[in-house]
Amino acid sequence: MSAAMKTDPYWWEAAPRPEIAAPDLPAKVDVAIVGSGYTGLIAALKLVEAGRSVAVFDSGAIGSGASSRNSGFVGRTLKYSFGDLVKAKGLSHAIATYQEMQQAFQAVADTVAEYAIDCAFRIHGRLVLAETSQQYEDLQREYELRHQHLGSPFETLDKAALPREIGSPRYLGGVVLPDLASIHPGLYHQGLVKAATARGVALHPFTRVANISRESGGFRVLTERGPLQAGHVILATNGYTDGLLPWLQRRLIPFDAWQMATEALPAGLIDQLLPNDRTYIDSYMNIDAIRRSPDGSRILYCGKTGERSDQVTMGRRLIGELRAVFPDLQDIGVSHSWTGRCAATFDLLPHLGTHEGVHYAVGYCFAGLPMGSHFGRLLAQRILQPGSVKSVFADQPFKTVPLYQGNNWFVPWMMRYYDFKEGKRHAA
Ligand SMILES: Cc1cc2nc3c(=O)[nH]c(=O)nc-3n(C[C@H](O)[C@H](O)[C@H](O)COP(=O)(O)OP(=O)(O)OC[C@H]3O[C@@H](n4cnc5c(N)ncnc54)[C@H](O)[C@@H]3O)c2cc1C
Repeated sequence: MSAAMKTDPYWWEAAPRPEIAAPDLPAKVDVAIVGSGYTGLIAALKLVEAGRSVAVFDSGAIGSGASSRNSGFVGRTLKYSFGDLVKAKGLSHAIATYQEMQQAFQAVADTVAEYAIDCAFRIHGRLVLAETSQQYEDLQREYELRHQHLGSPFETLDKAALPREIGSPRYLGGVVLPDLASIHPGLYHQGLVKAATARGVALHPFTRVANISRESGGFRVLTERGPLQAGHVILATNGYTDGLLPWLQRRLIPFDAWQMATEALPAGLIDQLLPNDRTYIDSYMNIDAIRRSPDGSRILYCGKTGERSDQVTMGRRLIGELRAVFPDLQDIGVSHSWTGRCAATFDLLPHLGTHEGVHYAVGYCFAGLPMGSHFGRLLAQRILQPGSVKSVFADQPFKTVPLYQGNNWFVPWMMRYYDFKEGKRHAA
C-alpha cells in the first residue's frame, strides 16, 4: 500500500500549486500581506479592487499552507456549541456569534459566485454522528435550540433511520444539517489566485517576511529578498505563524491535522457507504471528518488531529481508523496521505485585531475555510473604512498563558486527554 501512497494533497492533482515567478520587489506598496491562503488572498482582492497596491508574501509556494490541504467542509462550526455560549455569555451574544458564523458561510458562497470559481461548491448537507446516547441527547438539544433561536433546519435520525444515511454499524444516531456545504479547497484557492493575479495583486512566493518595524507613514517590511515600505501590514499566517510578531505567536497553538484519500472504490461501494453524499463528522472534540471526493470516486478522511508523525505512517493509521468505521473497506488502500497546520487559541475562538498597527486574523480552530473567507473581507474593510467593522470576534481580549512562547509540545497529550475524557476509541 505505502509504495503507491502519495504524500502531497489529493487536491493538488486537480489544482497543482501555481508556478509563479516572484516579481521584483517594489520599493513601496499600500498594503503588504504575509500569507497567501484564503485570508491573505481575499483581503488582497478586496484591497486591490478599492484601488490599493498590494503585495502578498509567502515563505513557500503560493497557497501551500492549510488552504490547499484541508477537508473542504464549509460549515458554521465553532468549538463552542450554541448551548454552551448561551450559558457562558447569554442568549443575545450566542445569537450574534452564530449569525456571524452564517455570514462566514455566506462569504464562501459569495466569493465563489463573485469570481466565478469552478470548485465543486455544493450545499448537500452534513450528518453529525453520535456514538453514545449522551452524545445523541446533546445533539438533539443543541440543534433544537439552534432551530428555535436561529431558524437553522435539522432532522434527527435514530439508529433505525441511520442506514439510509451511512453504511456503518458504529453510530447510534445523528442529525442532518441540510444547508451546509463542501468545496474542492484546492480549486477554490486556485480561483482566488487567478482572480488576484488578473486584478494586479503582486504574489511573491518563496519570500519569507523576516521583520516588520514601524517607521513614519507606515512600516518597513524586511523580506528575505530585501526591504520595502508598506502603509499597512496584514498577518494572515494562522497555523504557520512564526516569530515575526512574537506577541501573536504567544497566543496561537499550532497543530498538525492529518488527511488521507482512499484508492478509487469499486463501483457501487461508495453509494452503499455514503448513500446521500453529505459531509460527515462525529461528536468528539477530536473530530473525525469523512466525505466523498468531489468526483465521487473515493473517500477522504481527516482524523488523529494533533499527532506527530510522517504522512506514510499516518496514512496507515488513518485507513485503520476508517476501516473501523466501514468494515467494507478492508481491501481498500490509501492513495494520498498528507498533513497541514491549523491554529487553536487559548479561548478556542478565532481572533481578528490589530497589534502595534499590524492587522491580523488567526486562530480559526478548524473552521478557516469560512472564517478565513469572512475575515479576509473584514481585514480589507478595517483598512479601507477604519472603525466600520462589526464582528463579535474583533478586538477581543486575546489570551496567552505565562511562559508560553509558541512551543506546542503539549498538543498530542492534550488531544489524548480529550479522547480519554470523552471515551473516544481508536482502532490504529
Ligand atoms: C488537514 C486539514 C483539514 C482541514 N479541514 C477544514 C475544513 O474542512 N473546513 C474548514 O473550515 N477548515 C479546515 N481546516 C482549516 C483551514 O484549512 C485553515 O484554517 C485555513 O486554510 C487557514 O487559511 P489562512 O489563509 O488563514 O492560512 P494558511 O492557508 O494556512 O496560509 C498561511 C500561510 O502563511 C505563510 N507564512 C507564515 N509565516 C510567514 C512569513 N513569515 N512570511 C511569509 N509567509 C508566511 C505560510 O507559508 C502559509 O502558506 C483544515 C486544515 C487542515 C490542515
